Amino acid sequence: MIQLKKRFPLRIGSLLLLLTLAFAACKDPNSGTTDPCLTAHDWSDWTVTTPPTCTEKGEETRTCKHNSTHTETQEIAPLGHDWGEWTVTTAAAETEDGAETRVCQHDNSHTETRVLHATGTAGLAYTLINDDTEYSAAIGTITSGAVAIPAFHRADENSPYLPVTEIATYAFYFQSGITSVTIPASVKAIGIDAFRFCSNLATVTFAEGSHLETIGNQAFQSTAITNITIPASVKTIGNEAFFGCASLAAVTFAAGSLLETVGEGVFNGTGITAIVIPASVKTIGENAFRNSASLATVTFAPGSQLEAIAASTFYGSGITEIEIPASVKAIGGSAFRDCANLETVTFAAASLLETIGNVAFINSGITSITLPEGLKEIGNNVFQSCTSIGSINIPASVTFVGAGAFASWTASQTINIFRSQASANELWHIDWSGNCNAVIQYTP
Ligand SMILES: [Zn+2]
Ligand SMILES: [Zn+2]
Repeated sequence: MIQLKKRFPLRIGSLLLLLTLAFAACKDPNSGTTDPCLTAHDWSDWTVTTPPTCTEKGEETRTCKHNSTHTETQEIAPLGHDWGEWTVTTAAAETEDGAETRVCQHDNSHTETRVLHATGTAGLAYTLINDDTEYSAAIGTITSGAVAIPAFHRADENSPYLPVTEIATYAFYFQSGITSVTIPASVKAIGIDAFRFCSNLATVTFAEGSHLETIGNQAFQSTAITNITIPASVKTIGNEAFFGCASLAAVTFAAGSLLETVGEGVFNGTGITAIVIPASVKTIGENAFRNSASLATVTFAPGSQLEAIAASTFYGSGITEIEIPASVKAIGGSAFRDCANLETVTFAAASLLETIGNVAFINSGITSITLPEGLKEIGNNVFQSCTSIGSINIPASVTFVGAGAFASWTASQTINIFRSQASANELWHIDWSGNCNAVIQYTP
């Protein structure tokens, strides 16, 4: 500011002086003739005083032939770079990016570099999708080995790179030679049956920062996958996506999982031993863990939003204990059927449970269960042959118990009913205590 204040009056002063001089010089005091410059200057050609560069403007000047103190200057626009051809400096490899460079023909210190995206495994086939803005990938001519799907693809050197956002439906269906696949962060969807029956596919790796949202129905069914980490971005796992993956022992949902829907039969027949279901999951389809004999521990993350345990979800599994989230309103038919190792079933505080479907716990190894207040219906044969339970309380809220609910119970077991015998007889199935030798106590 100080400098500006000092200089400002000086500039005005010089300008006035210049104008006065110029005017005086243009009049011939002797002849009284009019200075031609009052009509028009006679300008010389422009002379470049400061040459422009590729990025900065220059300046040029011209002088009046009548009077060399009359000058004009003007800007010259920047030249802009004059780029040569792109030259590959590092070729892109299957899984490593490369680079190419071009040099300005005005000044070879001006260079530009751009990425040549990793090419992915040679032989993959690509199809334009989403109004030709993205690619879907499929097997093409590959027959075996490790497959790396690239994040970007271009049809040729003169075409723009577009993201690979999808693995096509049936992309690798029945390709038993495929042993591993690496899926880039750009992929949002894995199509239906994409890797189904890839019987030697053992490793599936998702790149960090994955945008995957959907795993299609049967996508990895009957593969040799041993473990998998499902990216946090995945919202839907389609029906039977990992069905019959007998070697699949560990499934991890990445921290911050947005998973909402696990389809029917997704982990049916897998070798999973333990699993933590993210709190965001609202729906797990029927048969999801059926026949997963190694499955011992299922944990629902705190704050679980699960709405129901669907029919046959854990039918025949190796589950040993479970805490049912408070949000669960219904336990479907056969949900824990034949879970011989299942000893402890607890309901989280403030359980919203209303119904337990037919044969839900038949033949299970339950030793203790505390049914939540608010439960309304117990279906047919729900606790049939659960002969390890010492005693069970039937809350006053239960308005229906189905036929044979406690069939095969023995005289060493006790059923405590919190309503009168008359009202139980009136409301419940006529055969609710069929084939049951347990001690029945009524406490209205
Ligand atoms: Zn002039
Ligand atoms: Zn340049």
